Amino acid sequence: MGNKTFAIIKPDAVKNGHTGKIYDRVLTAGFKILSAKLMKMTLAQAEGFYAVHKERPFFGELTTFMSSGACMVLALEKENAVAGWRKTIGATNPEEADEGTIRKDFATSLGENAVHGSDSDENAEKEIGFFFTESELISNQ
Ligand code: UDP
Ligand code: MG
Repeated sequence: MGNKTFAIIKPDAVKNGHTGKIYDRVLTAGFKILSAKLMKMTLAQAEGFYAVHKERPFFGELTTFMSSGACMVLALEKENAVAGWRKTIGATNPEEADEGTIRKDFATSLGENAVHGSDSDENAEKEIGFFFTESELISNQ
């Protein structure tokens, strides 16, 4: 199991003032922050990031939402990071998310669900590389 994952505090959560509370959940769950930045994605960036979903019916809505406002992208480190972060955020649909998870507590809807988490070690590496350069990742220095 790898020790890195990639997270996003999505535009709904930033807009609703939850950035600090979610950042605190990251630390409380035992993740080390390798890098974090506040940014606003272009539509092209959102389309590139979610390219795996390009045939899905929600692709247009998802990429428009993800480029609609500021978000915070984070590279995280912890033992078994991918599974650990997915457990911390909860199910994609907040109505199905366990008590105490980030999506249960902060998500607005299935689409606007507060946070992203990588689904595999391979995708975690790719997603970190999509948003961060080597020199921005603290453990690599
Ligand atoms: N999504 C959506 N409608 C759906 C499924 C997903 O709008 O029916 C959005 C939602 O924001 C989700 C993202 O697309 O987080 C990526 O979907 P995925 O299945 O990869 O869920 P995740 O890995 O984020 O839990
Ligand atoms: Mg996913």
